[in-house]
Amino acid sequence: MKWINHLAIAGATTAVVNPVLVPVALLGSTAPDWLEWVLKALTGQAVKHRGVTHYVLSWVLALAFALLLWDFHGLLAAFAWGGLTHVLADSMTVSGVPFAPHSDRRFHLFGGRLRTGESGEYAIAWGIVAVCAVVMQLTQTQNGWYPFFYDWPGLYEQGLVDAKEWKDNRFKFF
Ligand SMILES: [Zn+2]
Repeated sequence: MKWINHLAIAGATTAVVNPVLVPVALLGSTAPDWLEWVLKALTGQAVKHRGVTHYVLSWVLALAFALLLWDFHGLLAAFAWGGLTHVLADSMTVSGVPFAPHSDRRFHLFGGRLRTGESGEYAIAWGIVAVCAVVMQLTQTQNGWYPFFYDWPGLYEQGLVDAKEWKDNRFKFF
């Protein structure tokens, strides 16, 4: 899938939850591709396209780790979310993506019928953008408060909530 569509999907979905994190999600949304260049530069070996950096499982685990165990102001979660949207979007294309190491089967979503660069991928990406725009219109109040995202650790650091409140709420992400 083209980068413009990866960027659109990750940017729009992240903006609904927390607009501040959009740039990080954009970085993450292209990461599965540019990490291939990084790996190649580091190892000096050719890296298979849609190989090791496109495992669905690794991005799921990275996101789960960020949400449940450790994160820094949501940065890791946003990056991992961006990467996950990338591999899921790629999985809708004919060549698919690998689900995990040691599995030769390609992972496909929705039948994997899209071809990179054709109109289908634009339709999906901009359809998602449209849905997110509507959701944001419905949820955003005038003072810019986004009810879907409570930055509990951030509030805690600012002394706005006490430790117990943070503990009670830290697993409420929505
Ligand atoms: Zn890719």
